[in-house]
Amino acid sequence: MSGTLAIGIDIGGTKIAAGVVDEGGAVLARQDGDTPATDPEAVLAAIGDIVERLRRDHDVAALGIGAAGFVDASGSRVLFAPHLAWRDEPLRDAVARRTGLPVVVENDANASGWAEWRFGAVQGEPDVVLVTLGTGIGGAIVIDGEPYRGRFGIAGEFGHMQVVPDGLPCDCGNRGCWEQYASGRVLTRRGRAAAEEGTPLGRRLLDAAGGSVDEILGLHVTAAARDGDDEATGWLADVGDWLGIGVANLAAALDPGVVVVGGGLCDAGDLLLEPARAAFSRSLTGRGHRPEARIVVAGLGADAGLIGAADMARARMR
Ligand SMILES: [Zn+2]
Repeated sequence: MSGTLAIGIDIGGTKIAAGVVDEGGAVLARQDGDTPATDPEAVLAAIGDIVERLRRDHDVAALGIGAAGFVDASGSRVLFAPHLAWRDEPLRDAVARRTGLPVVVENDANASGWAEWRFGAVQGEPDVVLVTLGTGIGGAIVIDGEPYRGRFGIAGEFGHMQVVPDGLPCDCGNRGCWEQYASGRVLTRRGRAAAEEGTPLGRRLLDAAGGSVDEILGLHVTAAARDGDDEATGWLADVGDWLGIGVANLAAALDPGVVVVGGGLCDAGDLLLEPARAAFSRSLTGRGHRPEARIVVAGLGADAGLIGAADMARARMR
């Protein structure tokens, strides 16, 4: 399938992923780069370069941007990006001027959720909640087959639901946010602490990270757990436990049919999801007397954000 082509760009805290996407959700060409995190002008220039390169070989009709931040309800401004330099940034119009294309700006998790609903793991499900687990937690809501953005565009920021009073500090300025307990950063934090203490797992992680504590990441912990390390497996189970509790809260509020879990931490598979499902069933209000939402792994992997952004831009043209 090809039809009308659109470019999707997924702008995360550290990486930009971009591609030309056809009407069937297939990615026909790729351009990836690093996010210039400190300067909105540099991000704009990077977007311009990527679009120019992708348009050399493809005739595209629209451009969708999935941005790791709070996007206003009109899809024109990034109000706030906890991990980036944007503060009330008029991104849509700036990119439209630069590229001459119709531009749609969406929250990155909303774009991923849309892609999973259109082409991925939850096609045709009317009521879906997406939880993306990376360094933080992103989220998206589909209600009755439509993305739900909220009155001000900021719905689905599940990572910043406060779950522990006076808990760990978060980049958003609050304390005790869910993403401090149920995302990849938990593994990173515990891994680095263990390396500094010199525990057996800490030494193993330090080796895997090339001898530098600051290079230890969640993926090293996941690899150790997959290798059968009991302590690393326990850390993943702790994260899964918090994940299940949070998802039970989301089910109490939204009653979805399916919860789709995406993001890099999904590589842990059942090491994460089995404890999450157990905690979900344990915590769900009215358990035993109501249907339970399924918890499934996302189908499109890291490309979901750019595929969804492109598709939303194409949909907006119609
Ligand atoms: Zn927060």
